[in-house]
Amino acid sequence: MKVTEHISKAKKSLFSFEILPPIRGNDIKDIFSTLDPLMEFNPPFIDVTYHREEFVYIDKGNGLLQRKKISKRPGTVGICSAIMNKYKVDAVPHLICGGFNKQMTENALIDLNFLGIDNVLVLRGDPIKHENKFFAKKDGHKYAVDLVKQVKNLNSGIYIDKNFIDNNNTNKKESPIFDFCIGVAGYPEKHLEAPNIESDLFFLKKKVEAGANYIVTQMFFDNKKYFSFVEKCRIEGISVPIIPGIKPISSIQHLNSLPSKFYLSIPNELVKEIEKTKNKKNVFHIGIEWSINQSKELRNSGVEVIHYYTMDKPENIYQIVQSIF
Ligand code: FAD
Repeated sequence: MKVTEHISKAKKSLFSFEILPPIRGNDIKDIFSTLDPLMEFNPPFIDVTYHREEFVYIDKGNGLLQRKKISKRPGTVGICSAIMNKYKVDAVPHLICGGFNKQMTENALIDLNFLGIDNVLVLRGDPIKHENKFFAKKDGHKYAVDLVKQVKNLNSGIYIDKNFIDNNNTNKKESPIFDFCIGVAGYPEKHLEAPNIESDLFFLKKKVEAGANYIVTQMFFDNKKYFSFVEKCRIEGISVPIIPGIKPISSIQHLNSLPSKFYLSIPNELVKEIEKTKNKKNVFHIGIEWSINQSKELRNSGVEVIHYYTMDKPENIYQIVQSIF
């Protein structure tokens, strides 16, 4: 079922989760151990991130470094299929521009359609390690909006190369073969590369005009940022559901790493509380309490879905959702 259908049928706030494919060499059981406890909350859908290949440098021992391309977290599509099979819930694979050309994207969408996947979260992807800006693959997409357009085209039966599709297939249904519900990312505190929030909203609106059906936000720690973002979106005429993304802080390092990686701010009240704790283990509980309060306020404001970034660690997420479920 489409995310938008889940939303329109919901009688109260729903809880969804994002997981990461395990690092190469690990078992799918790791994913199930993350999800098993969270299934108690009847998530309507589970997002599975996509991680593009990256370069690593291997010391050859002779003063030379060898550049090697590796994919650390493969398996997004397989995990989506396993989740749907095991839990009978919708899985939402993330689909990125980085590392894909248009043909590869089309093939990936054909796979997803054959697997019965109804939703995709469409993203540009970050620059790869060692590169200071995002570079699209040759004949790939530079911005998420272009990938949204490609998915939308397929939804209308428009393939990249019409000369190589079977037009003589008499079994072809009247309705289009593809009907993906499309999600995109939104940034309550703006995307780190955007010169300002207005510019970011301008391009967010382009993604919606191109066919995005819903938005999932970057994590935020101050609900006021989310409410103000939603208000600005509505003023701009962006009317699709805007699903808030929540991640609990779980270590003192997060105070620096999250703002620098994701361009977001952490309220001073939370920073002070974390800094004054003598026992570093308390940070985990402070993070949980903070997210519970955020979640309660979001739910009371009537948001349709609260989306949790699990980072494949269910303990804190379980405690948060359990306290408001
Ligand atoms: P875009 O919408 O393309 O925007 C990128 C930047 O370009 C923005 O600053 C925007 O304002 C600007 N812009 C957009 N269009 C134009 C245009 N036409 N001209 C000029 N400027 C423009 N990354 C992964 O690799 N894998 C994942 O699974 C993943 N999941 C994510 C899930 C969520 C909910 C979020 C919020 C992020 C996720 N990311 C993931 C990270 C995401 O890929 C990065 O934040 C990336 O840097 C931007 O992606 P985007 O889709 O927002 O890009």
